[in-house]
Amino acid sequence: MLNYVYGIDIGGTNIKFGLFLLPDMEMVHTYETQTPMANQETSLFTKVIESLHTINNANNISLLNILGIGMAIPCPVKNDYVEQCSNLNWNHMNISNMLKEFLPAHIKVSVSNDATIAALGESQSFDIPYKSVVFYTLGTGVGGGIIIDGKIHEGYSGFGGEIGHMKVSNEPTEIICGCGSKGCLEQVCGTAAIFRNVRELAKTEKTSLNLNELTVKNVFDAAKSGDSVSLKVVNNVAEYVAISASVLAVVVDPEVFIIGGGISKAGDFLLNLIEQHYKNHARFSTYNIPFLLAKSGNNAGFIGAAYLIKEKI
Ligand SMILES: [Zn+2]
Repeated sequence: MLNYVYGIDIGGTNIKFGLFLLPDMEMVHTYETQTPMANQETSLFTKVIESLHTINNANNISLLNILGIGMAIPCPVKNDYVEQCSNLNWNHMNISNMLKEFLPAHIKVSVSNDATIAALGESQSFDIPYKSVVFYTLGTGVGGGIIIDGKIHEGYSGFGGEIGHMKVSNEPTEIICGCGSKGCLEQVCGTAAIFRNVRELAKTEKTSLNLNELTVKNVFDAAKSGDSVSLKVVNNVAEYVAISASVLAVVVDPEVFIIGGGISKAGDFLLNLIEQHYKNHARFSTYNIPFLLAKSGNNAGFIGAAYLIKEKI
């Protein structure tokens, strides 16, 4: 009998599924459906189970063929337990146990934070998987995950890897982060910060950007073409990422930094700028740690979730 695992990535809008054939983790089916918005304490689980049956039927298999299910969810998790998930209206729930109630006893279930799991997915997406990784997602939010010796790092209470809330700036500011602090990486590198900094500089400097149609892509494209306002803003992002990485390097000492998220679509241009700044801030031999662009993008969550459970069966 063929054996499989599922990786599932639960987001605020969509749920993504990947079906993987053991032992080589060949991805045989992907599927996406909308996240139910009402009664999420129960509806999300029934939607997941319905979707599993749909995918199983399409592949002529049943739950008997499934050995494990890994799940990525958008909130801090510790040992499958969620204190509070503001994105999903989940409170004080053991997510694995909830899902297991709908499944035959032989199926193992494991759950962790989506960015942390994406870090695992990205680390496994290279021809030779990396075992120690710091992964950044740069976008509207800035987050990430830490993999040490092939294992995700949740920390004592599930906040391990919340790298968007490293304090990297002491510049005076009125802007308070969602965590209640000021100067967090997310507040100086996220999309909002990019647009805010462009508008601020454009008050006194000429720019080729149309301030009424600002997108991250426009800002990076303008920077590549030499627009000085855009270049300063992009350079600022790169330096703060580099400063945070230089600190993480002397704590985690990863093999590699992987940069993902919407802002990483700027590609090698951004990566090169980060590396230049990183070399100025890094200590000891950590200045040699390479930066790579993420490979799996939106699939990293369910790929990582599948690898998370594969390790446990
Ligand atoms: Zn913060």
